[in-house]
Amino acid sequence: MLVIKNLKANVEGKEILKGINLEVKAGEIHAIMGPNGSGKSTLANVLTGNENYEVTDGEVLFDGKNLLEMDPETRAREGMFLAFQYPIEIPGVSNATFLKTALNEIRKYKGLEEITPKEFLALIKEKASLLGMDDAMISRYVNVGFSGGEKKRNEILQMLMLEPKFVLLDETDSGLDIDALKIVANGVNIYKNPNTAFLVVTHYQRLLNYIVPDFVHVLYKGRIIKSGTKELALELEDKGYDWLIKEEEMEK
Ligand code: ADP
Ligand code: MG
Ligand code: MG
Repeated sequence: MLVIKNLKANVEGKEILKGINLEVKAGEIHAIMGPNGSGKSTLANVLTGNENYEVTDGEVLFDGKNLLEMDPETRAREGMFLAFQYPIEIPGVSNATFLKTALNEIRKYKGLEEITPKEFLALIKEKASLLGMDDAMISRYVNVGFSGGEKKRNEILQMLMLEPKFVLLDETDSGLDIDALKIVANGVNIYKNPNTAFLVVTHYQRLLNYIVPDFVHVLYKGRIIKSGTKELALELEDKGYDWLIKEEEMEK
């Protein structure tokens, strides 16, 4: 589903990603871990098309299509979903209106008819109730005055409504408390299915207690220096990153 080949990227003229290779298949959950400043958020930003990040080499194929040529809106219509570290507030636009518009954009792109208001209401109520969200949240302005946990839950509601093929979660440094972590993890576990892939970016192992990854990759200085299964995450929790970094430096 997602194939990243020798991806290099600059931020403000400085090379941050130095040749990333990664393949994520449908149905898989991959975790990207690594010390602070290793380029995890940079990778997430490049994948979602943030224009402050300049790709200098390599390619990314999303379902066989050149992802790097697509603008962020096209990426979303093609089925890529980014859960923001800091979800944006949209005063004056209700959650229902926002989600109906987004959903219809995607349906139109796929050549499907617009969802009827009745179908939409039934769908959003069903998804909100799966997440234990109060119906009142549906008519409130997007994220305005929401608590941290409510914003997280709202983000997950967006994911359940839009049914993306590829979900990118950047939870690094977000200072999520355990309840918010559980909300995110619960949403991922509800949504997890054979047609969808997840890339979970996290500094700490604790999120992976709730979202069990199939593969774990360690990013360091813009390169993946180790890949493994969920046991690697546990080892990192136990021993930190230093031993891996020493191994890496020895090899040079
Ligand atoms: P991580 O998410 O792994 O902590 P980042 O991708 O946020 O790492 O950062 C990698 C490096 O890129 C760091 O040295 C950071 O200072 C730099 N960097 C990231 N974003 C920017 C930016 N917008 N402006 C300047 N430097 C940046
Ligand atoms: Mg950081
Ligand atoms: Mg980060």
